[in-house]
Amino acid sequence: MTRPFNFSPGPSTLPLSVLGKIRDAIPDWQGLGYTVMEASHRSQAFIDLVEKVEQQWRELLAIPDDYHVLFMPGGATAQFAAVPMNLLRSKTKAAYVNTGYWSKKAIDEAKLYADVDVIATAMNQEPYCVPELDVKALNKDFSYLHLTSNSSIYGMQFDAFPECNVPLVADMSSDILSRELDISQFGLIYAGAQKNAGIAGLTVVIVRKELVDQPRDKTPSVLCYDQQAKKQSLLNTPDTFAFFVMNLVLDWIKEQGGVAAIDVLNQRKAGYIYDVIDSSNFYINPVEKTSRSLINIPFRLPTDELTALFLDEATQAGLLNLKGHRVLGGIRASLYNAMPEEGAQALAEFMKSFVQKNA
Ligand code: PMP
Repeated sequence: MTRPFNFSPGPSTLPLSVLGKIRDAIPDWQGLGYTVMEASHRSQAFIDLVEKVEQQWRELLAIPDDYHVLFMPGGATAQFAAVPMNLLRSKTKAAYVNTGYWSKKAIDEAKLYADVDVIATAMNQEPYCVPELDVKALNKDFSYLHLTSNSSIYGMQFDAFPECNVPLVADMSSDILSRELDISQFGLIYAGAQKNAGIAGLTVVIVRKELVDQPRDKTPSVLCYDQQAKKQSLLNTPDTFAFFVMNLVLDWIKEQGGVAAIDVLNQRKAGYIYDVIDSSNFYINPVEKTSRSLINIPFRLPTDELTALFLDEATQAGLLNLKGHRVLGGIRASLYNAMPEEGAQALAEFMKSFVQKNA
């Protein structure tokens, strides 16, 4: 079967083979006579699934044993609060990097619980650029440093992470599993599942075990890392279907050769689009080259009319959901792991022929 290419920023495209396996498991999952949506989260079959998914994460990202892998409700947005609630510990101060929309939301939420010090900001002017971080200034008064590894809206991505004296916390909602990581560099990583790890409903939290022992008073139990760890993330009824899809997506990543192979592919996919942008005077990407995201690529056309025409013709050509986020306008191509290479190539070809017709 051929499908249109869906460049949605999230929830986003899933591999066709995963969709086939989802279909095959309805109405009978594992010969049980019912689906995973109808299974008790206390059933052995479901507990086995959760354990398997945790092992998959550990294997794909080489997560050391001194880290918990938790699956939590509430999306990345719930983590904006959970992080300060759990990681401030005896301190009051937390450091944040502002790279725009999502990091700003994390900052605003953290201010409800912490004295937030924004140590660097990226958004002053175009071209947008991942800011230089003066992490030496972070002394032991700070409980942690928070950054957003890939700014899904502005299309900026950290290509390396700072070594610092305080635990590093990263919102990796849009680039988890897209490249290899040294987990030991981080105190905590969180990411909603709906871009690179399945569907909405679960947020993965990878956290160094020693950091979770002092949640703030009155932390809700579902947002408490320590309680979730003690209950293997089954403190309450989770999104069982999202676990099922996550298992299939993580299997699919392994079949592709794991995260290292996915990374190589992602570089090629992004390369097709940036090559067209850079070889034209027509498309403008607002990000400094060294800060460019491999995952979300925003770009502008010379006029609003041309942007509307581009979106219209792209849709007709089977290239869907390319409209930019309202804060930037223009176009945004999201090239998550499951976007096939052919999708990026098709978009690049479309962009070239659009220039020829309209420049
Ligand atoms: N952080 C980043 C980097 C995101 O891209 C998003 C969602 N697009 C969020 C946080 C918010 O995620 P959620 O809707 O799952 O709360």
